[in-house]
Amino acid sequence: MATRAFFDTPVEYLKGVGPQRAVLLNKELKIFTFGDLIQHYPFRYEDRTRFFLISEIEEEMPYVQIKGRITGKELIGAGVKKRLVAHFADDTGQVELTWFQGINWINEKIKTGVDYVAFGKPAKYGNRFSLAHPELEPLSARNEKESSLHPVYPLTEKLRGKHLDSKVLSKLIHELLTLAKDRIRETLPARLLSQHKFISKQDALRNIHFPQHHQALAQAQARLKFEELFYIQLRLLKMKLVRKDKFRGQVFNDASLVTKFYNDHLPFALTQAQKKVIKEIYADLRSGQQMNRLLQGDVGSGKTIVGFICMLLAAGSGAQNALMAPTEILAQQHFNNLRKHASKMQLTIELLTGSTKKSDRKRIHESLRDGSLNILIGTHALLEEEVQFRNLGLAIIDEQHRFGVAQRSKLWQKNNEAYPHVLVMTATPIPRTLAMTLYGDLDVSVIDELPAGRKPIKTVHQYDSHRLQVNQFLRNQIAAGRQVYVVYPLIDESEKLDLKHLMDGYESISRAFPDIAISIVHGKMKPEAKDYEMARFIKDETKIMVATTVIEVGVDVPNASVMVIENAERFGLSQLHQLRGRVGRGAEQSYCILITNFKLGKESRARIETMVKTNNGFEIAETDLQLRGPGDLMGTQQSGVLDLLIADLGKDGPVLQQARQSAIDVLDDDPDLQKPENSVIRTQIESSRNSTVNWSRIS
Ligand code: ADP
Ligand code: MG
Repeated sequence: MATRAFFDTPVEYLKGVGPQRAVLLNKELKIFTFGDLIQHYPFRYEDRTRFFLISEIEEEMPYVQIKGRITGKELIGAGVKKRLVAHFADDTGQVELTWFQGINWINEKIKTGVDYVAFGKPAKYGNRFSLAHPELEPLSARNEKESSLHPVYPLTEKLRGKHLDSKVLSKLIHELLTLAKDRIRETLPARLLSQHKFISKQDALRNIHFPQHHQALAQAQARLKFEELFYIQLRLLKMKLVRKDKFRGQVFNDASLVTKFYNDHLPFALTQAQKKVIKEIYADLRSGQQMNRLLQGDVGSGKTIVGFICMLLAAGSGAQNALMAPTEILAQQHFNNLRKHASKMQLTIELLTGSTKKSDRKRIHESLRDGSLNILIGTHALLEEEVQFRNLGLAIIDEQHRFGVAQRSKLWQKNNEAYPHVLVMTATPIPRTLAMTLYGDLDVSVIDELPAGRKPIKTVHQYDSHRLQVNQFLRNQIAAGRQVYVVYPLIDESEKLDLKHLMDGYESISRAFPDIAISIVHGKMKPEAKDYEMARFIKDETKIMVATTVIEVGVDVPNASVMVIENAERFGLSQLHQLRGRVGRGAEQSYCILITNFKLGKESRARIETMVKTNNGFEIAETDLQLRGPGDLMGTQQSGVLDLLIADLGKDGPVLQQARQSAIDVLDDDPDLQKPENSVIRTQIESSRNSTVNWSRIS
């Protein structure tokens, strides 16, 4: 059987699997083929490479293996609390083995005075250690000699319920490895193997499942992680190469509007960082190649004006511009802001959203087609079929993480002659490792400086029992002329309970501040009502804005100086940071108050502490990545690229760096991968075409 066909064999045909287990593996673990099964890697290992002495056991140890005898047994408690405790001793000390289930059966089975091997996770009670539900086997020549790391596989409750546990899975994989042995091809070119001193693919697969010792495991991990990241980088870089080759970009050379704006209308001095990124973008717009650039900049770093100044170069050179924002509120705000600048520059500008009137819509469509409209601001309404430009030259996407990449590419199609230049702006700082994986095909510019004169936001954590003090503080701020946001979690707009919390919150705030005008905005409101409330707050007619996370993205009210976040423990770090970024935009000292329940989980506490400690978005993003892993980072959930088999973007930054460098080297030397020594790479790319990673998503 050819290699490929072998690994495509449905898992059902592996000895020991069969139709019923196959269905379970399909459904629960997405394992369909031999190839899927062999790549179902353990997520940790039980260390059976050594026996610990009981005196060596310490708190916080993972699983330990010990040798000893049962010196006595007792049944303690009654009813559901009943448990079996066995006293287990070696020459150095004693621990307890405890069972809460299957007590009678175990009690009969285990004998005093016999040598056993026990394996379990130690927990400390007072000054004794106890292993709950340990594995217990009589000491035998086999288990005394056998020493290795035992794989523990990702499983689901359902699988365990059907007795498909780690042991069973490891048997199946063992069987498969034996069958597959001579069919496992090498997937990295010889040069990379020797350069990095990597073990072969065959050894790596064996050792990732059944390592004899720690070193073998480390070697397997190093190789497989590198390989996974190498191929991702290779594809991204290749995509970028192809695009650079193929896609011509319009050349924008007329800077007369830019000069005029700089001389007559620039509302403030640009920061050095803003100047730097404008230079980078201008170089792209003049290069003759289509731009695909990511502009990262912390909240409040002034990305909007940068976008506008880029539009000036395109408009001056006769092209049209589009700016797409993820929400109606944000599109409206961009429109209000940019309209002021545009009118001074005699540029036409329109807003197109879901709630634009039909007659206006028609007029806008026409002005787009006849080329008289210079700038179109809008929501995803911009993507609709009827929206046709005469000559779209620059497409800017704000807060990109809210858009799927499919939508991004739709915007590209809006110019039939040449793809427009694309600038993606995001205020969700993305850790380097993640950016390299998610946006490895884009060029990146970073605004790493805030406009001068901003005071860092003071962040405090308060338990909800301190609400009276918080209210008093808000009252003082409002008396001093400031405005306040109070944000409630509404993770899923359809959640009734969250809506109730919000309404209850609104009521109690109304009661606490009877003489103060309050706005409320949430996702269940009609867009007009939302906009009306938002507008009142922006105009300072209301002093408190009670809202859900709809205000999270981009909204800019410089007079608002306090951000209160209720149930702060329910928000992710990057979301908290985004929310905090709504204040601190004016000259006044701003505050962020994170209110939580007294009881806090470990991770929630870490998140809150991070927020209190730092204002730096990149630092926060790094912490977020460490705490939660990339899959949970905002906006990355649906991106298939992050379904990594083995590499961990939170921890494997250095490996990623190496893998990317190697990919760059390979492509520099052989851009079309035509050289014989790279045939391994070609084969591998071919054979993983229909892998789980959806590449179209990130192009
Ligand atoms: P973000 O990068 O979060 O989108 P904005 O573009 O909304 O930030 O800018 C935040 C605020 O800072 C706006 O009120 C904007 O006018 C102002 N701003 C931008 N650049 C500067 C600058 N160089 N100096 C002073 N204020 C600036
Ligand atoms: Mg913005």
